[in-house]
Parts: sequence; structure tokens; C-alpha cells
Amino acid sequence: MASHQQGTNLPANIHAPASPRQVMPAIESGPVPVFTMTPARKGKAPTHLADLDIPARKKASEEAGLPKFRADQLSRHYFERHETAHTSLTDIPAAQRETVAEIFFPPLLEKVRNLTADRGQTIKTLWRLFDGAMVETVLMKYPGRTTLCISSQAGCGMACPFCATGQGGLTRNLSTGEIVEQVRMGMVAAESGDLAGGSTCVTNIVFMGMGEPLANWKQVQAALHRLIEPSPSGFGISARNVTVSTVGMVPLIAKLAEEGLPVTLAVSLHAPDDELRDPLIPLNSRFKVKELLDAARAYFVKTGRRVSIEYALIRDMNDHQWRAQLLADELNKRGRGWVHVNPIPLNPTPGSIWTASLPEVQRIFVDTLVAAGIPTTIRDTRGSDIDGACGQLAAEVKATSVRARKAQEAAEAMKSNDQTEVK
Ligand code: SF4
Repeated sequence: MASHQQGTNLPANIHAPASPRQVMPAIESGPVPVFTMTPARKGKAPTHLADLDIPARKKASEEAGLPKFRADQLSRHYFERHETAHTSLTDIPAAQRETVAEIFFPPLLEKVRNLTADRGQTIKTLWRLFDGAMVETVLMKYPGRTTLCISSQAGCGMACPFCATGQGGLTRNLSTGEIVEQVRMGMVAAESGDLAGGSTCVTNIVFMGMGEPLANWKQVQAALHRLIEPSPSGFGISARNVTVSTVGMVPLIAKLAEEGLPVTLAVSLHAPDDELRDPLIPLNSRFKVKELLDAARAYFVKTGRRVSIEYALIRDMNDHQWRAQLLADELNKRGRGWVHVNPIPLNPTPGSIWTASLPEVQRIFVDTLVAAGIPTTIRDTRGSDIDGACGQLAAEVKATSVRARKAQEAAEAMKSNDQTEVK
């Protein structure tokens, strides 16, 4: 860090604070977090129509004793009308509807809880999967668009110390069907008028919920095809309106670029220097900042899609003016017009090291990037009155159920002690 001088290249109208402090990432207890790609569980959800491409759906249809064209009918029910109930399959012979729905549309997500914020314009939903694992989605209405944030894994192995999901580890990868079902359920909620202001259509999908999407590449890859390809193959969402975020799975950024689906790539950078990014994002021990930015730039060259750099502003940790300048220099070194920076203000958390930057410091950070010619937009943080970071709702419910289970175990132990004593 000594190599970076505070206040270098300061534009005339920008004044940095006199004595910047450096707070380093820390965890409350236990060993230093290490990322892992190995899930705790291997369980696989039941096969669903959304897992299958068109040839596989035809094959499944034949195996179920149905003519091949049923696959097309069922696909249109699912991807055009977003329906799976046997009662809605009116073009299937009545005697077969229930069986067909059981085979092709096994229930994958059970709603556990909805939390609403932003005067009804944001709904965060916690879902239970077939094996009890939990994931979250967030549905957000904006002027002119409705965005759904989805999860790609139950838990996350990336172990970022600021993230509730990361603290719980990786439970398991989601199947393609489980990812796609989050989208269908979000579409149904939006169309049913669950958001304030009435019925709307989901226009944008962001993979920014639980998990590192590129660590579950095969399933996410197939899910992207289902989201983007037109019916009957998929929902037909514009690739431009789909965003895949990553903390830095460098080799898979290249694979994503080769996929021929020009989705938006969002890189959760949060620090432009390895000294800070190593403890902030454990995966940085494998892929360094420069490699990651090179991969992001290569993504732009291959797809023509401008890359988003996500940067959570954390007080005295990563919000220094010299870091804004270093970030701008690293981005400009790789060319102009290929990247956009989204600083994300955190919620103020008094007493925590993970707290909001001061408004003045935030302004200096943004002004420094803008003065260096980097398009920069402070990101709207929806649902901040529900909870701050991905995974917190699931973590809370998990903690509650762990507490409940422990209380029950303690009660049972006491009961059995009592019985032993009586005997
Ligand atoms: S911030 Fe994202 S990548 Fe890091 S642990 Fe949380 S969910 Fe995983």
C-alpha cells in the first residue's frame, strides 16, 4: 500500500480528507476465510422441463409415452404463459394432465417468506428448495423496467468476509431448473400485481443474489440460454437486459464471452489493489486485480458489451481518493469507453468496520472517477430497509431454525434427564 500516495493527480476541485485511515477487512472469529468450489451437499433437484433443451424435452416426452409435439405445447405453457398447474394444461388430454405436470413441472421452489420495502416497489422472497436449502430473489420495480435478482447457488463458497451468504459457506449448486424457476416465479408475481402500482412484466434479470454464478458455470450457462432464447426454447429476454456478476472467476469470464450471448458482465471489484482485495475477496488470492481487469476488458472486446465495475464504498477501508484514482488509471490503461463504475453506498452500521462512507468521501470518490473520464453512477440500493446484503434473510431464518432446533434439543435433553431421574 505504501506505493500509493494519497492525493496524487487530484483535480483542482477535489479535496481529500487530511489524514485517511486504513481499516482492513476482519472477521469476528475463526480462521481467515478461504474460498471453496466444493459444495457441502451433492443433492440434485428433480428434473424439470426447464433443465432440458428442446431435443431433450422431445426425448422426455417420448419416454413418458407422449407424442413429441407435447414437448412444444408444454414449453409454451411454461415459457410463454408461465403456467405449470395441471389445470392450465387444457390442450393436453384431461386424463394425462396431472401425470404430465408431475413429470415435467415438479415443484422446485416453495415460498417461505416475502418481505416488502420501498413502498411496495421491492419484494424480497426466501425460497425453500426440495432438500431444505434456501435461496433468495429480489423483485424491484423502477420507472420503465422491472428487475429480478436471482440466486445461482444455495450459499456461496467465495467466503467474502463482508457477506452474510459467504459466512455460511456453499451448501450446493442450483440446478438449471431451480435457477429458471426463480425467474418464472418472479414473472408470475410481477404479472399478478404483487408490486405496488399493479401488474408489470419482468424486463431485467441480474445474477446478483446468493452465490458466485460462474462457480456454477454449467447450470448457469444452460439457464442463460433458457432466459434469452425465444419461446418455445426460453423466455426470450433480451441478452442486454441480463447481467451476470462475478467476484473474479477469470477463466470463466472468457467462457462466458465465447457463449455468443452478449449479456452484461458485472465485476464485483471493491478494491483496485491486491493488498486490500486479497483479504476483502478471498478469490483474489487466485486471480489478481490486473488479471481480472484484463479478462473484463477482453469480454468487452469479444461481446461489445460495456462492463460494469461494482464497488461497495466501505468507510476508511476502500473509499480513499487515491484508490479512486488508481481504479481510474487501471481502467483507462485498458482503453476508453469499455467500462462503467457503479459505486454502491452501504447502509450506516455504527460500530461495524463494514459501514457507510461519509457523504463527502463518497462524493470525492465519484468526482475523482468522473474527472478521469470514467462513466460513474451511484447504484440504487433497493431493499435497504429490509436488510443490506445478499443472503442475510436466509442467514436469519437459518439462525432462527438453528436456535429453534437447539432449544428443542435442550428441552428434549432436559425431559429425558427428568425421566432418567424419575426412573
Ligand atoms: S459477496 Fe457474492 S461472491 Fe462474495 S460470498 Fe457473498 S454471495 Fe459469494
